[in-house]
Amino acid sequence: MRHSPITTKRTDPLRAMGIIALNGMFGEDDTDGVIRKAVEMFGRDLAVVSSFGADSVVLLHQVAAVDPGLPVFFLDTGKHFSETLQYVTDLKARLGLTDVRTLVPDSKDLERFDPEGRLWENDPDSCCHIRKTEPLNAALEGFSAWITGRKRFQTAERGILPHFELTGDERVKINPLAYWGEDDVAAHKKAHDLPEHPLFADGYTSIGCAPCTSAVQDGEDARAGRWRGLNKAECGIHFDFNGEIAPAEVKNGPVLFKKGRFVADPFKPLAENANLKGVRYVHVPLSKVKDNLAAIRQNPHPLGLLIESSDRVEDVAGELDRFSSVAISFPAFGDGRGYSTARLLRERYGYRGEIRAVGDVLTDQIGFMVRCGFDAFVVANDATKRALEAGELAEVSVYMQPVGLTEVPVGTRPFLRKPGKPVTRRP
Ligand code: SF4
Repeated sequence: MRHSPITTKRTDPLRAMGIIALNGMFGEDDTDGVIRKAVEMFGRDLAVVSSFGADSVVLLHQVAAVDPGLPVFFLDTGKHFSETLQYVTDLKARLGLTDVRTLVPDSKDLERFDPEGRLWENDPDSCCHIRKTEPLNAALEGFSAWITGRKRFQTAERGILPHFELTGDERVKINPLAYWGEDDVAAHKKAHDLPEHPLFADGYTSIGCAPCTSAVQDGEDARAGRWRGLNKAECGIHFDFNGEIAPAEVKNGPVLFKKGRFVADPFKPLAENANLKGVRYVHVPLSKVKDNLAAIRQNPHPLGLLIESSDRVEDVAGELDRFSSVAISFPAFGDGRGYSTARLLRERYGYRGEIRAVGDVLTDQIGFMVRCGFDAFVVANDATKRALEAGELAEVSVYMQPVGLTEVPVGTRPFLRKPGKPVTRRP
């Protein structure tokens, strides 16, 4: 097995600035513009990498419209569903792609490291390395840039994807569909009558190798069926040398803590004059929602709701299902109104989306917030970040105001207590 060299050279600052400028040149929806710019800049040094999975047809259709002769790499790991292999043939013909190249693992690597073909069972990272990363790295020699079909909505880790990334090996990775949502993908397939992957109808919303792919249930991430049960979300071909998605500007500022770790935040601030009919992945203040109900209802994209401490959630109770995330503001440590708002959301309105705390979020509050239904925290305070990273959260063992059926308020007589074991909630 060859190991890809880890480059430690510093990124050329002019090149990095060029990438930032490129990202500012295109609107979120301008997929065609992004692909055309990539072709114009890189010409024959540009390739497309496609899994020919559930959504691949959308990118390939857009690419074919610009240049059907662009090289398209398909990683045939030897572990694909037979339906995927047939889909490669079908899409090639349907879209008129003239240069689809099948990449296969090195036979010596397979013989040496995976002679029984079961490496995926106990060491999927190594399996992906020899079956995907190594063949792709070899194929990309001689190419300066490559196009991927990744999208922000797919996972928390991808929530910060820009259109153009400068990777650690000084290549440029282009993500023309970065801002597309699930609905955009479905609408594009329908509008152009594009063929679905044969397994899509069975709940396979993201499709990779057969042993590592399962169908997803309602409410799960589109990629939840990939490496289910394993602490693995990417195959490795999309990691930069530092093991992360590569944009330059994501390390500063508050970060989102969710499901026990810091993750990329797909939501961004709402611009002052934004058109509420077309924005996506922003938290719209409750007052604006009330004043612009028609626009909010017409907007087809994922949206969040921002509730300030003086707002009344009751005012938008009928609209809550429309929002995938509710951000509740804590303007100061002593302001407890946000706790009540979260409880109303969960207990009275049965809201099941993300509830995130924003503002003055400190370690001591998080345990109480979790009890009230918060499951995400935008943390700006350095000491709180360090405590969360170290798993050091204050335990809440005495309740003056119990939540749910299992917590017992201080002073309650034993015979009045409701049955049930104490629940330990973790953010
Ligand atoms: S997805 Fe699974 S089978 Fe495919 S290369 Fe990775 S670990 Fe191996």
